[in-house]
Amino acid sequence: MKRRIQINIAGRVQGVGFRPTVYRHATAAGLAGFVTNTPAGVLVEAEGEDAALAAFSALLKAQPPVQARVETFAVSDVPLRGDTAFVIAPSQGSGDLLIGIPPDLAMCSDCARDIRDTANRRHGYAFTNCTCCGPRYTIVRALPYDRAQTSMAAFTLCPACQQEYTSPADRRFDAQPNACAACGPALRLLDKQNMPVPDVADPLAAAVDLLRQGRVLALKSLGGYHLCCDATDAAAIRRLRERKHRPTKPFAVMFPSLEQIRAHCEVSPEEEAALADPSAPIVILRRRADSALPAEISPDTHDLGAFLPYTPLHLLLLDRTGPLIMTSGNQSEEPLAVDESELTQLLGTFADFALVHNRPIVRRCDDSVLKLSGGRRILIRRARGFVPGAIPLPMRGPPVLALGGDLKNVFALTRQQQAILSPHIGNLAEFASYSFLKTAVADLARLLQIKPEIVAHDLHPDYASTQFAKEFPAHTHIAVQHHHAHIVAGMVEHNLRGPVLGIALDGMGYGTDGTLWGGEVLLADLCTFHRVAHFKAARLPGGDEATRHPVRTAWSQLVAEFGDEAEAVAAEFLPALTEIERGTLRTMIQQGVRSPWTTSAGRLFDAVAALLGFQGEVTFEGEAAIHLQMLAATAPLPPYPFELVRQRDPWVISFGPTLRAIVQDLRAGTPPAAIAGRFHRTVAAALVETCAALRMRYARHEVVLTGGVMQNDFLLDLLHTGLQARGFKVHSHALVPPNDGGIALGQAAVALAKFFT
Ligand code: ZN
Ligand code: ZN
Ligand code: FE
Repeated sequence: MKRRIQINIAGRVQGVGFRPTVYRHATAAGLAGFVTNTPAGVLVEAEGEDAALAAFSALLKAQPPVQARVETFAVSDVPLRGDTAFVIAPSQGSGDLLIGIPPDLAMCSDCARDIRDTANRRHGYAFTNCTCCGPRYTIVRALPYDRAQTSMAAFTLCPACQQEYTSPADRRFDAQPNACAACGPALRLLDKQNMPVPDVADPLAAAVDLLRQGRVLALKSLGGYHLCCDATDAAAIRRLRERKHRPTKPFAVMFPSLEQIRAHCEVSPEEEAALADPSAPIVILRRRADSALPAEISPDTHDLGAFLPYTPLHLLLLDRTGPLIMTSGNQSEEPLAVDESELTQLLGTFADFALVHNRPIVRRCDDSVLKLSGGRRILIRRARGFVPGAIPLPMRGPPVLALGGDLKNVFALTRQQQAILSPHIGNLAEFASYSFLKTAVADLARLLQIKPEIVAHDLHPDYASTQFAKEFPAHTHIAVQHHHAHIVAGMVEHNLRGPVLGIALDGMGYGTDGTLWGGEVLLADLCTFHRVAHFKAARLPGGDEATRHPVRTAWSQLVAEFGDEAEAVAAEFLPALTEIERGTLRTMIQQGVRSPWTTSAGRLFDAVAALLGFQGEVTFEGEAAIHLQMLAATAPLPPYPFELVRQRDPWVISFGPTLRAIVQDLRAGTPPAAIAGRFHRTVAAALVETCAALRMRYARHEVVLTGGVMQNDFLLDLLHTGLQARGFKVHSHALVPPNDGGIALGQAAVALAKFFT
């Protein structure tokens, strides 16, 4: 019997080749009707025989385009219309423009096959893509997402490409960046002076040779330049480290294939899925003990950041070079280089040569970084492949610009009930990052056609992001406390209205009392919070200087907790501090000179790392804490004693007894691994006890875990398990980073909540 059905499909279904796929399946089944994009997703109407319709919808369900993520697939019957052919109909209404601009998508397996196939006309072509894959966010100048509005506009399609672009049955139908060697972008090899290397017939082959010789290359990738070198060449890696002034911070490695990643790292099925996802993030994996890759890649950890080639250019290179170090082409903490003038700064300073092309990068976007632990996804950096994907907000309201924090800056724009987070902007203390923030805000607001009416910013009066916010013309400016923003970001992700018990373990954020918070338990809802408990405050002698030198923080803790005994302990376990330095610092601490109070969990981890041997300078954020985590034995040792002081509101969690026990253990010759493990368990146990006691008082059983310290998956797992065992419902981040890269989302939600009260 003949019928007509309507199928409404929502999820990531636009810009991924959904309509051509529907067209192919429908015509193959001999059905008539149409497929079209709507503001809500994809709408299909098909008529034909019962059996054909059933086969069609089953096939569509089973074989959607590889890069699609179908969230709803609703089939209903509609009256017959007597269509005679199947067509791709023009999009219905401009609707929500956001839907029209998906994130950049990693090259699909079909395109990978094309460029490796000697018989294919795209064999070896570095800018191959199709409707399922390729650049999006990084090439679009304005919406709607059409070729004329992208950086492909300058390239006129050749007849063969035009044919693909206009044929509904073709994989490249309506693929905006469609191109081939005859009509599309081309590669060039540049020398140190930014001049084309003469007599290079095949820039790719020449680049491969240079990499094999141990040279460092600047590579124009998707959202900016990478610096790359042979990942098996220890000398080349050392050279890159020296040039970047990056002594120990781990480098990411791009591997030609999953098989090669497996040869060097432990890979779980979830990690495999993350690596192969169209977002193609850097996934932090456990390095195998038998991996022959040089230790220089990640000297102080047993982890390795691995990812797969996500552009055809990467694949063509890696097929011939094997694994490559791929690191952001920038000065540390500065934005990624994207254009010619920025390339000039890379050449000579960092790179010996550059492999470039003539498809402009319209929008900067770093690689995303994540790790998986205990079945949870921890985003460390949310950028390529995720941006500009929207995150649903708890409420609809006027457009908000939320400026995030100064470290790991990410800003957010909202429209109606959605928040769009920017990619990673960087450390705003760097002038280049601050300029990037200014242009990126203007650019994204223009692209998404959002005119912010509310500006949300951190409470810290001296943050560059706060200054920027205050100068931004808008009706309303709302300051949001740093850890409240962290916690609300988690609440937004899990659709919680609160009040919840929010645990924010962090570096440092400005508190309502003017001190630097960072080991906080807040009873929080979307609008307000009450500080119910915090880590015991300690002096930070020299402020940022102490953040760079964990031994200083350790010394401050010893002075506070050990009294007369502090000198002897420091002489034994903080050899990096001389007696004279200790004297100077002690005076600063006791007189409160340039020694702000902080309850920071990050600094507590620093102090313990110093006592256990981390005597040097921190060369990247969180280095000492990572050292401590790497050291920690995961065996179930008992926690050390701690103290919960409940005399006053807020309660104080003191690790004084813990530090005394640690020193005792050190003196008894207990291995540092056991001490570090027990310290992690102590922090978790103290917070579990605190929450259990707070539940008696406030009757809240939902807990949100957040803050930069939650990137420590050992601690995060301990907190999840410990709190769950006590009957709490525990939430941590999966959509935004627990670090300051996530706070803009929380700021936006707090601003909206406050606006309506
Ligand atoms: Zn493709
Ligand atoms: Zn062409
Ligand atoms: Fe923070």
